[in-house]
Amino acid sequence: MKKKLIAGNWKMNGSLASNEALVQALVAGAPKADCLMAVCVPAPYLAQVQKLLAGSVIALGAQDVSQHESGAFTGETSVGMLREFGARYCLVGHSERRQYHGETDPVVALKAQRALAGGVTPIVCVGETLAEREAGRTEDVVKRQLAAVIHTNGHCISEIVVAYEPVWAIGTGKTATVEQAQQVHAVLRAQLHAATPHSDRVHILYGGSMNAANAAQLLAQADIDGGLVGGASLKAPDFLSIIAAARY
Ligand code: PEP
Repeated sequence: MKKKLIAGNWKMNGSLASNEALVQALVAGAPKADCLMAVCVPAPYLAQVQKLLAGSVIALGAQDVSQHESGAFTGETSVGMLREFGARYCLVGHSERRQYHGETDPVVALKAQRALAGGVTPIVCVGETLAEREAGRTEDVVKRQLAAVIHTNGHCISEIVVAYEPVWAIGTGKTATVEQAQQVHAVLRAQLHAATPHSDRVHILYGGSMNAANAAQLLAQADIDGGLVGGASLKAPDFLSIIAAARY
């Protein structure tokens, strides 16, 4: 059985001082953990957090990557740059990128492809809006989002991480019930299974208001292989409690 993966998404939060305090507390608490861990930090802080994490078991992640290799793409960050700062993971297709930056399924698929080619594991985020759930379209939406990534990445799909993040649960304090989450995870697992003989390798994370109180129950579900944690990853005691809840 693979270890769970708990990844923090700091979003656009942090400062040199607060990052240092947070990472030092995480590094001090991490050796007691029985799971894989990562923090996805804003790009300007990659160098700082790389140094703070040196020698620890916590991996470094970024929050986005360009679909292009290099060149005239002002404001973008290439996968080569992420690698230079030791990034092991990179979020792609987070709902905030899809919503506020117009990222489409094909763009997300190309970003995943670029990350894989550059040796960074993409954490591909999928999830339905409240309107889509209420219209009974949840499965169609997440399958369409994942299908684009499968189509573009072929057999490499076994090297990605998937994060199911219902948009209505992100930053709202509303969590999917364990049944709702497990049901969608099972759909995604079946889709991966049809695409690769190595689907069991793929971590499928749940994200959306995961916290110290609800993590254990969510992480106990058969197809929930970890968590993508936003707000609660900014407080060391909360993030460490979620990490403590992540057992095999
Ligand atoms: C996220 O931003 O990926 C996320 C899951 O946020 P939160 O945990 O705050 O809902």
